Amino acid sequence: MNLHEYQARDLLRTAGIPVPEGGVATSPDQVEAIARRLGGTVVVKAQVHAGGRGKAGGVKLARDPGEARKAGTAILGMQIKGLVVEKVLVVPAADIASESYLGLIMDRESQRPVFMVSAAGGVDIEEVAAKTPEKITRLPVDPRYGLLAHQALGLGLVLYQDFQQARAAAAIMQQLYGVFVANGASLAEINPLVTTAAGQVLALDAKISIDDNELDRRPDLAALRDESAEEPSEVAARKAGLSFIKLDGDVGCVVNGAGLAMATMDLVKFYGGQPANFLDIGGSSNPEKVVSALRIITADRNVKAILFNIFGGITRTDDVANGIVTATRQFKVDLPIVIRLTGTNEAEAFRILEAVGMRALSDMDEAVKQVVALARGAAAKGGAA
Ligand code: GDP
Ligand code: MN
Repeated sequence: MNLHEYQARDLLRTAGIPVPEGGVATSPDQVEAIARRLGGTVVVKAQVHAGGRGKAGGVKLARDPGEARKAGTAILGMQIKGLVVEKVLVVPAADIASESYLGLIMDRESQRPVFMVSAAGGVDIEEVAAKTPEKITRLPVDPRYGLLAHQALGLGLVLYQDFQQARAAAAIMQQLYGVFVANGASLAEINPLVTTAAGQVLALDAKISIDDNELDRRPDLAALRDESAEEPSEVAARKAGLSFIKLDGDVGCVVNGAGLAMATMDLVKFYGGQPANFLDIGGSSNPEKVVSALRIITADRNVKAILFNIFGGITRTDDVANGIVTATRQFKVDLPIVIRLTGTNEAEAFRILEAVGMRALSDMDEAVKQVVALARGAAAKGGAA
């Protein structure tokens, strides 16, 4: 789960990291009021789950409350990478002398949190990573000890020659590590970490992603979720108790079990198709889940054909068959559906489907080949029309 900048800033501030004060606004009136309260030049910043807001026009300097209102009017309602801006953050403008990058991610390869720091921070860190990776210093952290003082100072000296500033940055890194661990983050990033003309070191932008598995035991973090900023189909799936990830392909997949769902996606790719989603309806025998799954998948306009791949162990395939029949009765599914069922009660399942004129297969390869061909046929027809 991604946090907005204003939420991430609160976590940093609570940990003692120097973050400029500020306020969140949803209307130009509020932007003006906050700018007046702060006094002087302010920065108005779009709060969306996307990087590159600066380049997209979502970060604007304003010299007085009137200009702040104008900036607020321009930014509120604008779209950045397809996301509508509903909130802005208003902060006093910092007098920036240098911009650095500070990031901490959970790294699968080293199976540890890894710090990444670079003196070439600011808006183009992705480009720095791609073109001049030597400008980024990486340090895996042993979770048994955390980020030790000498390691933090070493990283601080990568960023700043000035010893006071290096020490300030080192303190921020240790605090950032604390925020990362205490909140079960998978990513915590400060870009830019700036020095001001007066020599201070400040965090001007913050991005934190919380591991979804943390949320059950941290209702305070779960409450920060902004559903308006998330993929609607994933929100609907979460509410229906389904594990669902939207992808860009055109073959909708309804599968029981995460492992089989992964294998199904692999096979769709193997036969030349593109999966539209990962979906695990779970091990339960609940027809309602099938109904929810079909609703979510048919709402995706990219989907050209749907594949059910059900291995009946604890899941009873006759229940799934009933779910498919119930769902297709509740609303018209205009898309071709290929059903592969095998295992518990499969004879009964085949009978249930045949009774309504649907046919099921028991061979997985055969089913995947068919659904890929159907999706391709529909795409070709769509292209010709
Ligand atoms: P991002 O583009 O989404 O990463 O948004 P940032 O919050 O990082 O802002 C982008 C850029 O705007 C920064 O790298 C700065 O160059 C600039 N910026 C942000 N805040 C301030 C500020 O307080 N003062 C000045 N002068 N520039 C700022
Ligand atoms: Mn940034």
